[in-house]
Amino acid sequence: MSEEIVLPEVELNIYSPKDPTEVTVVENYICTIENSPNFVRHLTFDVSGTDLEGRVRVGQSIGILPPGVNEKGRPHKLRLYSVSSPTKGENGNSTLISTTVKRTIEEFEGKLYTGICSNYLADLQVGDKVKATGPSGRRFLLPQNANDFNYVLFATGTGIAPFRGMVIELLESGFKGDLVLVFGCPYRTDLIYADFFRKMEQKYDNFQYITCISREDRRADGSKKYVQSSIEDCQDQLSPIFEKENTLIYICGLKGMEAGIYQNLAIQGFDEYLVIKPKLETIAPEDWKWEDMKRNVKPSTRTFEEVY
Ligand SMILES: Cc1cc2nc3c(=O)[nH]c(=O)nc-3n(C[C@H](O)[C@H](O)[C@H](O)COP(=O)(O)OP(=O)(O)OC[C@H]3O[C@@H](n4cnc5c(N)ncnc54)[C@H](O)[C@@H]3O)c2cc1C
Repeated sequence: MSEEIVLPEVELNIYSPKDPTEVTVVENYICTIENSPNFVRHLTFDVSGTDLEGRVRVGQSIGILPPGVNEKGRPHKLRLYSVSSPTKGENGNSTLISTTVKRTIEEFEGKLYTGICSNYLADLQVGDKVKATGPSGRRFLLPQNANDFNYVLFATGTGIAPFRGMVIELLESGFKGDLVLVFGCPYRTDLIYADFFRKMEQKYDNFQYITCISREDRRADGSKKYVQSSIEDCQDQLSPIFEKENTLIYICGLKGMEAGIYQNLAIQGFDEYLVIKPKLETIAPEDWKWEDMKRNVKPSTRTFEEVY
């Protein structure tokens, strides 16, 4: 690396769960393609008059305290949601902070469970007040000298949230490097903010948007297409960027998604994005087992990861 990665100083927990603030919903709309069974919503909060105004950086999260109590009669715990607006605020307005929320629904032993906080948020109406905390997160950030780097961003599901903000932040501030967003989801109807990213791709020559639709797209060998498949399948687009000295990788979304990305980076010889412990050094990356990788492959300083 010829550039030093300097992360900005951030403020943490201006508001704690014991002393939350109140923000107001100003927007709540579906941001997946119409008729998707996996509802994801874009929510914007007015934070004016609170100390969150202008103090939440892209890549950070805010906490939401849903009302009500759990089965033990204790107040529900806070849940974290990545900010999907840029640091300067939604539409450049420092009083507006957005997030991207997926309704979680689970069937277990014949009973349907709806996630407490995500469904609470998804049901909110414009004008409703919400208890919020934060910000949180001090590592999953764009460097202070953001324009000195190139970026490959990998997202699954609502992992797209921080990347919406980062893409806006970089491209609208005269960024001239390479920026690629690789998004993975099961079905085409699960694409999130797809129209927005396609428009940005048309507008900015240095931005590429790659989608991997695992249950619909097939690779040349007939296997499913996941985000990590792009490292092999889109070599013409990605390898020249990975090879550059000042490229950073960001990974956000479902826990476990990082494994395939690490493995394929190693297969392609891009070891500089990883810290590989001696135990795996003698094993070909193609043969790495996930159990071994958990302990023996870590992101290097050039790789940023937020999985949940
Ligand atoms: C750093 C960070 C950033 C995040 N960013 C985002 C984001 O941008 N957008 C986003 O949508 N999420 C994000 N999350 C996840 C978010 O914090 C919540 O975990 C998520 O919304 C689920 O919370 P919930 O209250 O809706 O579900 P919970 O009520 O906590 O339930 C979790 C899951 O378990 C199921 N369940 C509940 N009870 C049972 C039971 N008895 N048996 C079986 N299943 C059950 C629910 O249906 C649900 O699927 C982030 C998490 C982290 C850590």
